[in-house]
Amino acid sequence: MQQAKEVDPYLIDRIPIAKNMDHAYLLEVEGLCPLCGKNLLATKGRNKSKLYQIAHIYPNSPSSKQVKELYGLERLGTNCEDFENKIALCKDCHGLYDDDVTKDEYLNLVKIKRELLSIANAKEVISHQPLEDEIILVINSLSTVDMNTLKEVNLKYNGVKIADKFESNYTILKSKIESYVCSYYFFIREIFQQLEQNDQINFNIIANEIKTSFLKCENEKIDKSDIFNTLVNWLRSKIKARVSLESCEIVVCFFVQNCEVFHEIT
Ligand SMILES: [Zn+2]
Repeated sequence: MQQAKEVDPYLIDRIPIAKNMDHAYLLEVEGLCPLCGKNLLATKGRNKSKLYQIAHIYPNSPSSKQVKELYGLERLGTNCEDFENKIALCKDCHGLYDDDVTKDEYLNLVKIKRELLSIANAKEVISHQPLEDEIILVINSLSTVDMNTLKEVNLKYNGVKIADKFESNYTILKSKIESYVCSYYFFIREIFQQLEQNDQINFNIIANEIKTSFLKCENEKIDKSDIFNTLVNWLRSKIKARVSLESCEIVVCFFVQNCEVFHEIT
């Protein structure tokens, strides 16, 4: 053990996890074990019990067998104590993982952590991106619309041609967006037009803000589902009222169809 540390600068002495960092790890996996999906906190009376531990992805003190198994593989962070090389796991998964981690198990956890880091980055980057407060007016109109109004609006137009922006591995995301676009695209377009005519909203400013956020997410190299969800959560965070997740999804879907979000695939 000691020998591996001497020859490998990545391996440094253990640094204990401070409480605020413990929260960061829990938040990163949204309170669920990234390997088995188990809740990492359990309710016990009025308290919460901690069912997780912070695991090293590349071991802090690898055995010579582990050194061999993980030789030459990608490592996260500059040393084994970096945030990048640690992740919250439930106690069971942590135990199993640490027990002679295999190359496949290691690479799988590296992949999961890399995705979580990118999603967190995208979220952080667009959190500073402004969005006009008036977007609330569009969200509010969604919360009161009834089926008949939607049907009437959609009848006025000849159906919407859905732009092709999704590869075959995004079937679920694609069908969700298509179904929202079919039901709400024209309705939202009319709401924007009305609000703009009444000088209540500047559509181009809002569209540009949405587009900038999309481009920033895209820059973080996260997949399209993660981009979509990051944009929805960002939109929701910018609205100074509690609004439904679905209404925010519908607005993002509008901008997918309107071409501010995602590119046409060729
Ligand atoms: Zn687990």
